[in-house]
Formats: sequence, C-alpha cells, structure tokens
Amino acid sequence: MSNSNDLTCKVCGLIQEEAPWGEDRRTPTFDFCPCCGVEFGYQDSSLEGVKSYRKQWMVLQKWAEPEMKPLNLICFLNYGAIND
Ligand SMILES: [Zn+2]
Repeated sequence: MSNSNDLTCKVCGLIQEEAPWGEDRRTPTFDFCPCCGVEFGYQDSSLEGVKSYRKQWMVLQKWAEPEMKPLNLICFLNYGAIND
C-alpha cells in the first residue's frame, strides 16, 4: 500500500515524482530534492538530520534549483502537513 507520504520530501514536504525512499521506504534514491536540495538517504536518514537540514533550509530560504521556484508556495503549504 502506498500513500502520499511515500512521495513527500521529509525536509520540505514537496511531493516528488518518485518515492524518495523507494516503495518499501528503505531504498533511498539518493536524488536531490529540487526544493530544499536534501539528498534522499543522506541528510534525511535520521530525524535529527531532517530537523537540522530543515533548520538550515528555513534560514537560508535558498532554492536548490532556481527554475523550480514556482514550487516554493506548494512546498511551504505542504510543510505544515509534515509529521516528525
Ligand atoms: Zn525537499
């Protein structure tokens, strides 16, 4: 069974095209989130990692890929829906 959480970036909440942690949630793709720039399976591999990366991202408010900027709003809207 899959739900939308499987497609959600743990750091910023952006819905990804592919499940960042794989369908079994154990095999990260090691792709980078176009929004916050986290590498799936690396900085988001622990709750502490997610929290500290998210903090940095919120402070810098920097876009990993500037052409993805229109997603900014979606990203921040989803952010409220993240459960730690
Ligand atoms: Zn992200």
